[in-house]
Amino acid sequence: MTRLGIFGGTFDPIHNGHLFIAQAVAHEARLDRVLFLPVGDPAHRTAVAHAADRQVMVELAIAGNDAFALDDTALVQPGPVYTADTMPLLRAAYPNAALCFIAGADSLVDTPWRRFDEVLSHLETFYVALREGTDIRRLEPAFAGLPPDLARRCTVLNLPLVDVSSTVIRKRVRAGQPIRYLVPDAVLTYINRQGLYREAAGE
Ligand code: ATP
Repeated sequence: MTRLGIFGGTFDPIHNGHLFIAQAVAHEARLDRVLFLPVGDPAHRTAVAHAADRQVMVELAIAGNDAFALDDTALVQPGPVYTADTMPLLRAAYPNAALCFIAGADSLVDTPWRRFDEVLSHLETFYVALREGTDIRRLEPAFAGLPPDLARRCTVLNLPLVDVSSTVIRKRVRAGQPIRYLVPDAVLTYINRQGLYREAAGE
């Protein structure tokens, strides 16, 4: 059975932390492919760059890695998008695959997931990558109260921490500081060409 990783995010912009986590989880979990799902209209935040720009940056970043692909389900989905509403669409699109979700620990700690049990019900495994600045103990409330069969689907992976975030990238661009080696070169070129992230956007 094909094993698919589902990596949802705002990707505003995609950076090397995302790419490393996707690659490392794919290895640990023996995934055949990781699908990057940029979310067009995320429920819990407002994106700075347009969805079309974020999509292009993901495409540029993953080009050349045969195990990575973009899936536009959450881009075209009417918002506000909750993962619980995206999962049935993915299940229908990939009926024969084992689906595994990939998320950073901060995403579970900072905002409680709506209908997390429903998300888990579609998954074989929910992989959590630890993140610099997120205490592993703060993950407990996210898993508390889950039925045991769903709680068992959650696995925290101890991977090298890559301390880069889209927030830092946006701040550095705005401040005129280099982001080379924090994002793939093609993403850097796109950001510069399109003049993305130069204006303050409420941060
Ligand atoms: P922002 O700084 O704008 O909040 P971000 O860097 O967290 O953005 P997202 O697109 O929101 O990026 O993240 C998508 C997913 O990738 C989330 O599950 C997030 O936790 C995870 N993630 C992002 N960066 C890292 C990283 N450096 N290490 C581990 N997980 C990460």
